[in-house]
Amino acid sequence: MSSTDVPSVFTKDHPFPAKIVENRLLSRPGSAKETRHLVVEISGSGLSYKVGDSLGIFPTNRVTEVAELIERLQATGDEPVSPAMLKLASPLPLREVLTSRLTLASPTQKILSTLLGKVTDAAEKVKIEALLKPEAKEQLTAYLDEREYVDILAEFPSGRLTPQEFVDHLRKLMPRLYSIASSPKPHPQHVHLTVAIVRYRSNGRERVGVCSTFMADRAEVSVTAVPTFVSHSHFGLPEDHAAKDLIMVGPGTGIAPFRAFVQERVATAATGRNWVFFGDQKKATDYLYEEEWTDYVAQGQVARLDLAWSRDQATKIYVQDKMRANAAELWAWIQGGAYFYVCGDAKRMAKDVDQALHDIIAEQGGMPIEKAVEFVKQLKKDKRYQRDVY
Ligand SMILES: Cc1cc2nc3c(=O)[nH]c(=O)nc-3n(C[C@H](O)[C@H](O)[C@H](O)COP(=O)(O)OP(=O)(O)OC[C@H]3O[C@@H](n4cnc5c(N)ncnc54)[C@H](O)[C@@H]3O)c2cc1C
Repeated sequence: MSSTDVPSVFTKDHPFPAKIVENRLLSRPGSAKETRHLVVEISGSGLSYKVGDSLGIFPTNRVTEVAELIERLQATGDEPVSPAMLKLASPLPLREVLTSRLTLASPTQKILSTLLGKVTDAAEKVKIEALLKPEAKEQLTAYLDEREYVDILAEFPSGRLTPQEFVDHLRKLMPRLYSIASSPKPHPQHVHLTVAIVRYRSNGRERVGVCSTFMADRAEVSVTAVPTFVSHSHFGLPEDHAAKDLIMVGPGTGIAPFRAFVQERVATAATGRNWVFFGDQKKATDYLYEEEWTDYVAQGQVARLDLAWSRDQATKIYVQDKMRANAAELWAWIQGGAYFYVCGDAKRMAKDVDQALHDIIAEQGGMPIEKAVEFVKQLKKDKRYQRDVY
């Protein structure tokens, strides 16, 4: 049954209150990262998915952060407010909009401009004026990057804003997408996710990513309702994938959809070969789903598994280096009709992998780089080069 056959009543505008039924650490103690395997139950929702799709999640903010904001506003949390960005039919209590409707991070210059007209303390006024000077653009950007709204209210306490004035500065809290890490064939009622939990420090405070920590810390297993929808994607397997070879490059959480692809290929007894490139910092702590990959290789269900550990030796090794080291075979697979997939970090990895692919095609195919560019364009047109990068 394909995902389009069954229209669920649950959509992005009307998300399904799902439960997380499993939440376990994938990275091992000593890892610089916290990556988790989460299982979301979708039974009873009518939601269906195909491999390559993503799951959308609407998070809520941390209670402690909301409480601090309410305190800084000298409010109770019960004040009815109607934030400009939400266009509500009727006002909602301040606590509710701060918890589940608005983003408390990424402040903009506008809050400083408003506070400038409000502060009664001379030193606070001087500080805001300095930040808003046209020649201080860089300092302003650096200042805002390091802060959330709560820092700004704390820094300019004399500029008392009413709850309504404050919420009018905040943007909508948006859902986050996660590549689905399971196939509906073995898991029709569950969606697996591979999530990197965002935690860091800035301006002397512990910060968290809203949605990753909502799922990791605040959504109680089998209890908390997690508003969820399926985001259908063009990224995925061709209908007639059974006999096709697949090359899948997915370092870090980029491995998620390829775990789903391989589950699907095994469930449907596909005869095409699977080649997986995975990588992360250290083999001992960051080898996500190690037992599963080892089993797939032992069973011949993954024909090739190439692993790149960036911090296990003096010279960093990345997935694109592993591709280059296997250039002749990679070219042979592509010439044989293989599909090439990439998932994960858009900023560096996807660009480096794309460059490596072009170089391999040019070198191995004995063609000038302009021809390789045309070759890759054609691969994309034929949907044989697909990316799910973020
Ligand atoms: C199609 C798609 C698929 C995706 N699939 C996955 C997936 O499978 N797994 C996965 O984990 N994610 C995936 N993501 C990313 C995911 O949607 C979220 O963006 C991610 O989980 C962070 O969301 P958050 O709410 O936890 O963090 P947010 O609250 O959005 O905070 C993130 C922000 O925090 C800041 N930040 C983070 N770290 C630091 C730091 N060290 N120093 C300073 N600032 C910092 C940055 O401004 C960053 O933009 C996917 C995204 C897309 C679009």
